[in-house]
Amino acid sequence: MSCASWAIRFAASLDGIITVLSGMSNIEQMRDNISYMKDFRPLDDKEREIIRKAQEILHSSAAIPCTACHYCTEGCPQKISIPDIFSAMNRQLVGGQLDQAKKAYLEAAPEGRRASDCIGCGQCERACPQHIKIIENLRLGARMFE
Ligand code: SF4
Ligand code: SF4
Repeated sequence: MSCASWAIRFAASLDGIITVLSGMSNIEQMRDNISYMKDFRPLDDKEREIIRKAQEILHSSAAIPCTACHYCTEGCPQKISIPDIFSAMNRQLVGGQLDQAKKAYLEAAPEGRRASDCIGCGQCERACPQHIKIIENLRLGARMFE
């Protein structure tokens, strides 16, 4: 089963839910969604337990929980590629791959669009559905890579 299937079935299994919106980017993702939603089966107890264990692991991770939705980037006056910077930081925070993380950071954050170029306007934080402390994390990114 795909990662998306777990998320969508989790949401659809909650009490009182009649519709689940799924952001799809291509035909394969749509086929995947249809495959488990056309004859919907709510999560059973075993599957709920699997999700609970996955939550524990994710909550113990140092990773920045960015989903790369890019809702934050369009209005950034500094044109900072926030999700790509967070992806580079996660390489270091989770995998400890400093060299690869720094290379990815420099590709994502050219001169003038570095993490340290953030002016703290807060536009991105208002747009982020994950409520990530973007400004604080960019400051951390600047300390890690600049
Ligand atoms: S707070 Fe920083 S990263 Fe966020 S929109 Fe403003 S300048 Fe861009
Ligand atoms: S809006 Fe939040 S979750 Fe989406 S890309 Fe930006 S930081 Fe990541």
